[in-house]
Amino acid sequence: MTDISTLGEFGLIAHLTREFTPFHPTTLKAIGDDAAETKPVRGRNQLVTTDLLIEGVHFDLAYMPLMHLGYKAVVVNLSDIYAMGGTPYGITVSIAMSSRFPVEALDELYAGIRHACEAYGVDLLGGDTSSSKQGLILSVTALGDVEEGKAVYRSGAKPTDLVCVTGDIGGAYAGFLILDREKKVYIDKPEEQPDLTDYEYVIGRQLRPEARKDVADWLKQHDIRPTSMIDISDGLASELHHICAQSSCGALIYASKLPIDFQTVAVAEEFDIAPSVFATNGGEDYELLFTVPIADFQKLKDIKGIAIVGHITPDKGLVQLVTESGLTLDLKAEGWNHFK
Ligand code: ADP
Ligand code: MG
Repeated sequence: MTDISTLGEFGLIAHLTREFTPFHPTTLKAIGDDAAETKPVRGRNQLVTTDLLIEGVHFDLAYMPLMHLGYKAVVVNLSDIYAMGGTPYGITVSIAMSSRFPVEALDELYAGIRHACEAYGVDLLGGDTSSSKQGLILSVTALGDVEEGKAVYRSGAKPTDLVCVTGDIGGAYAGFLILDREKKVYIDKPEEQPDLTDYEYVIGRQLRPEARKDVADWLKQHDIRPTSMIDISDGLASELHHICAQSSCGALIYASKLPIDFQTVAVAEEFDIAPSVFATNGGEDYELLFTVPIADFQKLKDIKGIAIVGHITPDKGLVQLVTESGLTLDLKAEGWNHFK
């Protein structure tokens, strides 16, 4: 293992970024100067979003391999650009780590970052490198663009609009519960190898989420223009509250319509929790939640991979779930609260 101090700050930056070559001809200057320079695509507006990830708060290296962490840190930011209806083109990555991380660990992290850059066609434009007293801190900023006037905000939902969800939800939370359980088993009995074959899908959802870069094209192909959109990072309930708050409306969704994978259902049953709770309160699926005018129902209803889960109501801030047994419950916005 190589101590970071053997490379020094500039040596480390050069080492970590040596295999990144920009994909976009519009990237005039990436790493190596005081700032990156990109050429705007005429008429398109800029999108910028950033996330800060702290070891022990947002990720646990006991079950999150560094390569996955790098990949996920990029993907969650790209997801925010897609949730605006935009296209990402670049990222910056800032890291701070304690001396317990050897160069090889950072190589893993950057391998994951590179995989994400390749998978989504984004350029590494720069970043910053520092040391920390304890643990790893990682911040990714994503840049993207969107056609003038075409950004989809959280604020455009209208009563009677249909509430739609891509893919399936609750899986990342199911994966988290399994990994957390296995971590505890490992601490007690390190000699036992867990058999996780029954949980591969949900663990993948937790460790290697993907951003929905395909959805914008689908919608365009079917001539559907969402009235509002948000990505599901904190859970459906929390995201619906954001849409309802910014659109001054309410929402009614149906447990029976929630798209939940059978493996997620199996884990929910194992933990004796209703699968709909995973789907509404489990975060980190990075699917898209959007609303469309009810007039688009015919265009939408046969698209595979989009579930219509309910509709928008005029009741400001009231987000409700109709359970499988027909009860109507208020859904609270139980997003992550790091300060609790
Ligand atoms: P400055 O002194 O201007 O902050 P740095 O020496 O920190 O410059 O960075 C040199 C170059 O390397 C810049 O282009 C910067 O964006 C890039 N860079 C620094 N740290 C990272 C990192 N962790 N990942 C990617 N690029 C980085
Ligand atoms: Mg710097």
